[in-house]
Formats: sequence, structure tokens, C-alpha cells
Amino acid sequence: MDQLKIGAFIAERRKKQGLTQLQLAERLNVTDKAISKWETGRGLPDAALMLPLCEILGVTVNDLLSGEVVQMENYNKELEQKLVEMMREKEKNDRQLLKLEWVIGILSMIILFVPIIIAAYLPMQDWQRIVLVFSGFIPCFVGFFFALKIEQIAGYYECKHCKHRYVPTMKAINRAMHAGRTRYMKCPDCGKKSWQRKVIGKE
Ligand SMILES: [Zn+2]
Repeated sequence: MDQLKIGAFIAERRKKQGLTQLQLAERLNVTDKAISKWETGRGLPDAALMLPLCEILGVTVNDLLSGEVVQMENYNKELEQKLVEMMREKEKNDRQLLKLEWVIGILSMIILFVPIIIAAYLPMQDWQRIVLVFSGFIPCFVGFFFALKIEQIAGYYECKHCKHRYVPTMKAINRAMHAGRTRYMKCPDCGKKSWQRKVIGKE
């Protein structure tokens, strides 16, 4: 695939639709930097974004990946099939990531609490106790950070009001009240706040 050609094609179609990079970014829930990256051939849209992007640009997935409008008789159904497979693959990966989050979370708790328990029950100098207790803090913090990062990127959060599914920013994740993986956040689409649950598929 010729990324430069695809990028130029995206830019051309976007302008034809009268959209700025920012407007297109907002409709796809990505940053305008991502759009600029695609248009300059430095990256391709995520598989999950491919169909909504094509819809906005008024082209088929095959057109997009060919970097031009392909004649109907050459239309390749296999390509769309491939995309559906790519999306399924992402869903499978997301499920595994969310399982991994559990493992990281539990390990982090062990790393945090085992030294505290040892420090509480084994005879030792006070300074040794302090060092031991704090030794668990940093790896535990790193573990929680990774677990949170997984929670941000794996799957989507779904707005209760408009059913919009999106990937929130790390800032929104950090700030949100949560019960398990369900988080109280503001929907970027309808702007209403609700308890949003984690879902795997885009639709
Ligand atoms: Zn909403």
C-alpha cells in the first residue's frame, strides 16, 4: 500500500467534503495530529476507524486503501472482508489486554502489601522497616499506571445517553470516579455525564 498516495487521497476527499482537519478529527474522535499524520503518509487510520472515515469521505474502503476511486468492476470485496477480520483481531487483543490488566493489578497489590506485612511482623531495625515499606511503592505505582493505560486503550467506553462509543483521554480516565471498570465520565458526543461501561466492539 502506498501511504503517501492514500494520505493525499484522504486530504483531497476531506477538502471536497468541506472539512478542516480539526472538524474531521472531531467527527472521528481523534486528534487533528492523527489526521495530519495520515494525510502526510506517516501512518494509516486504525482498522476500527476505517469504516467511519470512509463514510465521511464518501468513498469505499477499497478506494481509500488504493488511494483513488476504484471503478466498480474492479471492486474487491475481499478487502472489506479483511478489514472486518482486522477489527475482530483488535477485539480479541483488547479482551486479552483487559485480562492482563487484572494480572498487573493483583501483582501490584502483592508488591505493595507483602513488604508492609513483612515489615510489620519480622524483627528488624526501624530504618529497615521504612525502606522495606517504601520499596513496594514504586513498582506498585508503575503497575497501576500500566493497568490504567490498558483500561484506556482496550475497547471503548459507552455513553448511557446516546450510546456513543469512544476511547477517552488518560486525563479523563484519571479524573473519573469509578466502580470497577465502569467510570463516571462526560460523553464527547452528547456532552452528558453518565456511568459508562467498558465495551469491546465499536458497534
Ligand atoms: Zn453521549
